[in-house]
Amino acid sequence: MRTAQALSQIKPYLFATIDQKRDALRAQGIDVISLGIGDPDRPTPEHIVNAMAAAIRNPKNHQYPDYAGSIEYRTAVAEYMQRRFGVEVDPTHEVLTLIGSKEGIGHLHTAFVDPGDYVLAPSIGYPVYSIGATLQNANTYFMPMSEANGWLADFSQVPEEVLAKAKIMFLGYPNNPTGAVATEEYFDRAIAFCREHDLLLAHDNAYCDLSYDGYVAPSILERPGAKDVCIEFFSLSKPYNMTGWRIAWACGNETAVQALGTVKNNLDSGQFTAIQDAAIEALTGTQENVHEMCELYARRRDLLVEALRAIGLTCESPKATIYVWAKVPAGYTSESFCATLLEKAHVIVTPGSGYGPDGEGYIRMSLTTPDDRLLEAVERIKKAMA
Ligand SMILES: *Cc1c(COP(=O)(O)O)cnc(C)c1O
Repeated sequence: MRTAQALSQIKPYLFATIDQKRDALRAQGIDVISLGIGDPDRPTPEHIVNAMAAAIRNPKNHQYPDYAGSIEYRTAVAEYMQRRFGVEVDPTHEVLTLIGSKEGIGHLHTAFVDPGDYVLAPSIGYPVYSIGATLQNANTYFMPMSEANGWLADFSQVPEEVLAKAKIMFLGYPNNPTGAVATEEYFDRAIAFCREHDLLLAHDNAYCDLSYDGYVAPSILERPGAKDVCIEFFSLSKPYNMTGWRIAWACGNETAVQALGTVKNNLDSGQFTAIQDAAIEALTGTQENVHEMCELYARRRDLLVEALRAIGLTCESPKATIYVWAKVPAGYTSESFCATLLEKAHVIVTPGSGYGPDGEGYIRMSLTTPDDRLLEAVERIKKAMA
């Protein structure tokens, strides 16, 4: 049996490898604290669970779902986009239900990228942007990111020969893993660049509703002319503690949304309609839980940032997302520092290098661990480093 060549190019998925190490230590009876994956520790709010319980009893929901998603869910999405951002999207042609935004981002490559093409991806970012290209036998050009440029991926130096074969530029702010946020001016430049070079701008907005200190994250679709070149990905996973439910959406440019829909029509048959019903409750019901989660994460962020600085690690205090991005101490690489923390402190953090070339020298810590465990993790790190 011979698997596809593209598969041999793919390293084990970062978080799957980390889970394996964690499980091996736990099997030895060791208490491991994971600040690894960003997976909310709190349950899905009860009003959403109740909506699902009712929806599951509706026989209409037991049949194949509408391919693009129920019109009720897509309408709730359009209303959210209007209410939250003042952005107008037509629920019938410019919104597509996704089985999690990871699925949509991965399938976008199938819709746009031919073998040998390029995608432009941030040099520190969600791994699927580039892995999706690899699966299409296409290439990734990593746009440089650094602390000096505010972690805003720099697309000004992309070589002409890459641009000639490039199809998609991926961006995502508020940014996982750096916690950086974008400016309007940056979005405007990115839109102009994609227009000039005939690229689709795919903006991943998974964290727009998890922000702190009064910062409110925008949609890129708020910017003038954005809908000519942009598709934007949103997810209910992080704001509503719904990672296990697999529900998200893409919206924006009609051609892009329809192209992605064509791929999905032929590969999956949509998401369980009962889950879409529950998602309508999430988007249109009380947002009290989202505010509570923001307060909780902001508190944990302050605890973690203060504790890390106290032990001599350098990190920014992020305005959004559920991650703290910290510099590794002198004498370590991302991987060696993560390995040291796992061995000596039994604390899992993720190596910045796992997010792309410019992530080397950093680690990411997730805020999805209860406060007492978070503080214990820092205590253990302190001891390990002493
Ligand atoms: C969590 C995350 C996603 C995926 O979310 P799902 O909707 O659960 O697939 C997408 N992009 C980024 C940057 C994320 O951190």
